[in-house]
Amino acid sequence: AIAVGRDPAPLATEALRGEGATLINAAGERFMLAIDPLAELAPRDIVARAIHTELAAGRGAFLDCREAIGAEFPEKFPTVYQYCRDAGIDPVNEPIPIAPAEHFHMGGVLTDASGRSTLDGLWACGETTSTGAHGANRLASNSLLEAVVFSARAADDIKEHMPDGAVMQPVPTGEVAAGGEPDPAAVTRLRETMTRDVGVVRDRAGLIRALEIIAELEGDCLSTRFRNMLTTARLITAAALARTESRGGHERSDFPGSAETWHRRTFITLEEADAIAAEALSPTVESVFG
Ligand SMILES: Cc1cc2nc3c(=O)[nH]c(=O)nc-3n(C[C@H](O)[C@H](O)[C@H](O)COP(=O)(O)OP(=O)(O)OC[C@H]3O[C@@H](n4cnc5c(N)ncnc54)[C@H](O)[C@@H]3O)c2cc1C
Repeated sequence: AIAVGRDPAPLATEALRGEGATLINAAGERFMLAIDPLAELAPRDIVARAIHTELAAGRGAFLDCREAIGAEFPEKFPTVYQYCRDAGIDPVNEPIPIAPAEHFHMGGVLTDASGRSTLDGLWACGETTSTGAHGANRLASNSLLEAVVFSARAADDIKEHMPDGAVMQPVPTGEVAAGGEPDPAAVTRLRETMTRDVGVVRDRAGLIRALEIIAELEGDCLSTRFRNMLTTARLITAAALARTESRGGHERSDFPGSAETWHRRTFITLEEADAIAAEALSPTVESVFG
């Protein structure tokens, strides 16, 4: 993403790297060369971690399009060009400041090939689901499969289950759920926590700190919408704490290698996540998660 202090951060398309744009730090060094033989075209998790490392070390991270794209930038990539210009950056002549950003939610509500969840009468499709289409890493453009193919299959399946003559009611939108809108300061605290402790690189201490903050925020929470965010955050954090290995988008600095026992698809229920959180936050019990 383009790091210009905007929220949400505008995305610099990966196609720029496909066109030959390079990743450099403030000293002008192409840091990917030392990390992966594919350099800038390495898988997303490797590139994201390398950018994260440069930023964390204070060396800065930039996408340099000057040589590979240069004067053709406005015509070839008009949207990104406009984002840059709006931020006062001229990508034809200067490197674009960047940062890793989450722009897809890996995993979600478990569904089968017809979009059925484990709750009778609840179908789900799109980014909110876990269909099994992804591996440990995000595959670009799988959203088309999830949003178009699985939604069509879910719609067909729902139709088959509708009683004769039944009419679908429109989905209510724009209604404020019980407890009102989330407190913006609390949402910011949750986002900062998830970015710092459950982001590109995780470890046990950070994940436990995140579970503590989530529990604290939950104690003060009246808003159903915010409670849903906290529940999602706890599921992700507890699953990351339990997973004592690194694979794809899940990087544990305290468990850097991949372990054969985790070479499988994983599932977690809210009850299991609550148990992991309770154990991690218990001051007396020695953790089984190492
Ligand atoms: C910057 C960016 C770039 C991306 N680029 C790519 C790409 O190049 N290739 C790719 O494959 N994917 C890309 N993605 C991911 C892709 O865009 C998403 O995975 C996809 O659009 C998700 O579609 P969806 O219909 O499942 O969910 P959404 O588009 O999020 O739709 C969910 C809808 O539900 C509505 N809603 C939410 N809560 C309620 C409620 N309580 N009641 C009623 N309605 C509700 C929301 O308003 C929204 O309209 C990108 C994402 C981002 C953010």
